[in-house]
Amino acid sequence: MASAVIDRSMVEQIVRQVALEYLHKSQNGKAPVLTVQTSSRHMHICREDMDVLFGPGSELTFDRPLFQEGNFAAREMVTVVGPRNRLISNLRILGPMRNASQVELAFTDAIMLGINDIPIRLSGDIADTPGAIIIGPKGVVELKQGVIRAAIHVHMNPTEAAYFGVSQGDRMKLRIGGEAGLTFNNVHVRIDPASRLNVHLDTDEANACGLHLTKDIELYK
Ligand SMILES: [Zn+2]
Repeated sequence: MASAVIDRSMVEQIVRQVALEYLHKSQNGKAPVLTVQTSSRHMHICREDMDVLFGPGSELTFDRPLFQEGNFAAREMVTVVGPRNRLISNLRILGPMRNASQVELAFTDAIMLGINDIPIRLSGDIADTPGAIIIGPKGVVELKQGVIRAAIHVHMNPTEAAYFGVSQGDRMKLRIGGEAGLTFNNVHVRIDPASRLNVHLDTDEANACGLHLTKDIELYK
């Protein structure tokens, strides 16, 4: 078994070497630049709910681009009402539209709404999650499910994945230095050719570690 392990680590080393060389060529000798960003609470919306909340055939209005290409913050906002009639207003919608609506909250937001057991999920994985009432300027939608706390995750392309030696679904560690520093142990790896290296965490996570106070950040396997 020992030789199999050596073989595998050698292969990984070679893959990493190739990836490194590629990165050196493509980025003038620099390792991939890690960007860590905080996602505030937001909503993703489907065509059907857009019609109800903002009127038939309405489209999202581009406000500003997000780091991942093609994604953007829209001008449109909604109010979300939780199980005990508590609400959060001015919940921003992120585009483009998706197949299913989804509300992403930090733990503190969820507690504020009265959802104390909000499940931690990767975006899009919304089976058996809590719902909420969504109020828009033109109508109201009852979301049967889709309220989640987004799992901390890292977007990367296959070259960057080879550099780190990770595969889709792996978990990595993110160490944040500084006075309030801490290490996140379950950073989900999401690989897509169109992605740029980028960690997404929520406002609770960012505030807990004082993300804005430090540049000492390290992502590793
Ligand atoms: Zn993300």
